[in-house]
Order: sequence, then structure tokens, then C-alpha cells
Amino acid sequence: MDLADQPLADDIRACTLCVDREGCGALGTRPVPGLGPKDAKVVAVARNPGFDEDSSGKPLQGPSGKLFDRMMHFWGFPRETIGTVNVMGCFTKQPTNRPPTELEIENCSPWFERQLSWFENKKVVIAMGREAIKATVGHCASKLDEIVGQTFAAAPRPGRKLGWVVIPTWHPSYLIRCETGSPLDQRRLAKYREYEAPQIKERLAQLTADRDSAENSKRPRQLGLFGDDESAW
Ligand code: SF4
Repeated sequence: MDLADQPLADDIRACTLCVDREGCGALGTRPVPGLGPKDAKVVAVARNPGFDEDSSGKPLQGPSGKLFDRMMHFWGFPRETIGTVNVMGCFTKQPTNRPPTELEIENCSPWFERQLSWFENKKVVIAMGREAIKATVGHCASKLDEIVGQTFAAAPRPGRKLGWVVIPTWHPSYLIRCETGSPLDQRRLAKYREYEAPQIKERLAQLTADRDSAENSKRPRQLGLFGDDESAW
């Protein structure tokens, strides 16, 4: 049973709540619901769809999606085992994938909460970027540098069932930009590869440790964060 096949996903695809406002449905974009199996122990939360996600109707596609797949594989949770949900469901096409406004996030929060709740067995939410952290932890006052890889309690929200924790991380699109970015970006990427990504792997293993051995035995061989062939990234 996958979220993308549920009536909830169809309702999101038909949503026109923001259609009268610039930057959302009025520009020919389409809402992109989350996906993933009902029994997912890990759910990844991203900000909102970009061009590739809007074109395909699925979250985390294109180059960012490819790196995301590598990250999840390295962490021991291949894409088909996890949930993926956006805080805001539509591509903010103009000017170019701008951050969603507070109003857009508020409009979409009932969809976000219902999708997150659909994954009833989740133990960990991987929050990718500031908007995802705010939507799950309730705030993001600290610099991301200081909190990537840490664990945080989920914030209470009306209708939200707690019992899961949040691990903030960089969004894969930022990590891609870091490769050719400023010296600061490159230092962040090096730190992420060396310390934070392995730390997240360890925490995910601990926080989901109650999974039975049969499930563990289905896991594929784990690759390094950037695969056996680092030049592929
Ligand atoms: S951003 Fe959310 S609430 Fe607004 S039209 Fe898209 S799916 Fe609907």
C-alpha cells in the first residue's frame, strides 16, 4: 500500500486552494503528493516540488533525487522503504523555485499533516532544509550548520500523533551546489561526508533498531555515501 495510490493523494492532486495566487496552481503547476509504503519507519520531508518533481508528479526527482537515493542507500533505507512528503505541495515556478511564503505553507499544512500521519509506524523524520525542520520541530532558530545530524523531538500539532524524532539534514540540491560552491560550501560538504552523514546513519540504525531480522536481511549491500564510483556524482 503506497501513499501515492491513496484517495488522500488524489485529493491533493486535485487541490486548487492556491490557484488564484501567483506562483502556484495558477501557473500550470500541479500538486505533488508524497509517496512511500504504509509501514515506513523513516519519512523524508522536503520543502516543495521543483521542476523535475512538477514534471513527473513525484517528490525528489532529477539530480537531487539521484543524490537523495544515494544518501538513503548509504543510510540503509532505500527509497522504496521510506516515505517522502513535501511541506508545500506545489512548484513555486516564479521567479524560479522561490521559497514558499508563510501563507502557502499554512494553506498546505493540512495536506502535510495528513500525509505525515498516514505513515503511522514512522520513528524518524529526516527533515531536509529549514522549512522541513520548522514544519516538524516547530522552529528553526539555529544555523543548519549547528544542527545537521542531531535529533530533535517532534513538535505537537493538532491531530499529530507523536512518538517520532526529527533529524535535520541539508537538502540534496544544496549538497550538489556545494561541490562547485564557495570555500565555505566545500568545507560543509567535506564535513557532511566525513562526520554528519555517518552520524545520521548511526542514529537511524539506533532509532529503528526494533525491526526484525527478516526485514534487515532484505537490505541491499550498502554503498559509500557517493557510491563505489564517487565520480558518478
Ligand atoms: S500549495 Fe498545497 S494548498 Fe496550495 S494548491 Fe498546492 S497542494 Fe493545494
